Amino acid sequence: MAAPELITQEAVQEARPVKQAAGRSVRLSPGRGILRGLFRRRQSLRVLCYHGVIADELAGEPWVPDYFVTETQFREQMQTIQSFAEIVRLADIYRNDQTPNDTRTPRIAVTFDDVPACAFTHARPILKELGIPATFFVATGLLSSNRPAPAEMVHLLRLYPDIRQDAASPALNEVCRKPSTHKSLTIQTLQRILARVDRRLLSQAPREAIESLRLLSWSQLHTLVDEGHEVGGHTVDHAILSRQTEATREQQVARCLSDIQNQLGVDPVGFAYPNGGPGDFSQTDTTHLRAAGFKYAVTTIAGFCSAASSQFELPRVCIGMGHTPTRFMLEVSGLLDRRRRRQQGWN
Ligand SMILES: [Zn+2]
Repeated sequence: MAAPELITQEAVQEARPVKQAAGRSVRLSPGRGILRGLFRRRQSLRVLCYHGVIADELAGEPWVPDYFVTETQFREQMQTIQSFAEIVRLADIYRNDQTPNDTRTPRIAVTFDDVPACAFTHARPILKELGIPATFFVATGLLSSNRPAPAEMVHLLRLYPDIRQDAASPALNEVCRKPSTHKSLTIQTLQRILARVDRRLLSQAPREAIESLRLLSWSQLHTLVDEGHEVGGHTVDHAILSRQTEATREQQVARCLSDIQNQLGVDPVGFAYPNGGPGDFSQTDTTHLRAAGFKYAVTTIAGFCSAASSQFELPRVCIGMGHTPTRFMLEVSGLLDRRRRRQQGWN
């Protein structure tokens, strides 16, 4: 385990049960015994959500999203969870309409969304070395495109305005001005806006950014399946389902499943809602997922999965660059969940 680290009063206040006098920094190290105890009390399953895993030396680059982690962080985090929990594949629990059995053994599942190439380069060897199975949720229409996910493309266009200068449309400028704008658009509108600058972005953005952020190829995904990992759906075009027309919502789910079947020869059972927060999906999408043949779906709403959880609204907790060893432990233990849900407007 990492050495105890000095954390600020602010971080301690996030961890509600830990009370300290105001204005003082305290030494806090929630050990594995505490984590195990917290899991026992809840008797449930925790699902971690990752995106990219970046080379350590690139961590300070402005194009690296804060929801990526470094290779060193990822290794330490995997070693930490492996030291006190059983690491499970979600498909093994939900494939046969089972619910997570209440158990006294802490259980954790590791998942990746979007899956940029850097996760293949840096996370895959660590998972292999430690024998940890993971689930990779992919937007099937973007695989083998050699392009980053839409959110990363917008981020790069904001960072490097010269790239869009000559080709900028009012709509593109608006998307770049306000980062959350692109999340409110239909996928057809967003694709039309990005198509104007697509080629310029790929040729003019820093090479290491494109190499790290571009999404996986089908052949890399094949490799992950061969190594025992699970592949799940994440729509075709990374469409935030609630923003789409009814017909698009259904197509994005059904085609995503058939793409995976046709390309990989496996039947996916899991799905991750793009963005995955409150308001990003609804009962309509659950109906489409069931009809297509999916068995479970994960959100980005923090919490534990228990026998009482809806199988199509499983909670997850997102891990990013800001997770120091101590903060990671607090996050895994669930002590930050209430704050996370408040930030998302959940309660
Ligand atoms: Zn995503």
